[in-house]
Amino acid sequence: MSVGVNGTAKGSSPVPSDDAQPTIHVDKLSKDYLLGTNVVHALRGVSLDVHPGEFVAVMGASGSGKSTFMNLIGCLDRPTSGVYELDGLDVASLDGDQLALVRNRKVGFVFQGFNLLPRMTALGNVSLPMIYAGVPGPMVHERAMAALEAVGLADRADHHPAQMSGGQQQRAAIARALVNGPSIILADEPTGNLDSRTSVEVMAILQSLNRQGITIVVVTHEPDISEYCKRVVRFKDGRVIEDHNNLVQRQAVDVLAQLRSEASEDSA
Ligand code: ADP
Repeated sequence: MSVGVNGTAKGSSPVPSDDAQPTIHVDKLSKDYLLGTNVVHALRGVSLDVHPGEFVAVMGASGSGKSTFMNLIGCLDRPTSGVYELDGLDVASLDGDQLALVRNRKVGFVFQGFNLLPRMTALGNVSLPMIYAGVPGPMVHERAMAALEAVGLADRADHHPAQMSGGQQQRAAIARALVNGPSIILADEPTGNLDSRTSVEVMAILQSLNRQGITIVVVTHEPDISEYCKRVVRFKDGRVIEDHNNLVQRQAVDVLAQLRSEASEDSA
């Protein structure tokens, strides 16, 4: 069951459409950091589920616990206490190597700064997670090209990051996040380095992937960007203080069409 905390006038509390196993199930998840002799309670008992096909915006002020939460659900770190199950797998009990394996197979990461390797082409960057996962050579090229195709970047396969715009680099990074068929894509401020039009283009890609059934969690500071998501979870002081579904999910393709028509009117 998802928690529905303080459902707001903007939307309804999230209710799973069926009893399907959640992709993410966290219960009383806590994370403490030791800073000198002080304990920092970065997460204070977060409980929520994310079901297959959801598109969640994680919001909250700086220091509210968003990164800590994403690090835990991305299998980059382990909780101090509480339950975390990814696709029904009890992740909190895994050791470092097992955690790395689960991360590689089940989680696709997208970062604010794209994090592409500069010496590799788009195709090389997108191929890397498959090479780490031991995907047989002939399949690597085929799947990497299919992922680049899915983000509209097939014609840039042999370009290096420096030869691509920010938006193209982020699309390559999304393709890289996709190639191992993850259970979830975690995107940390994916539009933070992009201008507003390019941000909408990136959200259009994420919405298109979500329509194909891919589950996505996005950290964002921007209320505009959260409107493209189906659900908004807000953190404060290590707790979830708000969790609602957007009544209307803004459609990035419509916004792009509007921008195009305004541009053609301006030039007429
Ligand atoms: P956000 O991503 O919302 O900015 P964080 O999850 O980064 O929030 O941080 C939550 C709290 O935990 C903050 O008080 C932060 O200073 C603290 N914190 C985060 N990482 C560490 C760490 N490695 N060591 C000590 N304190 C940390």
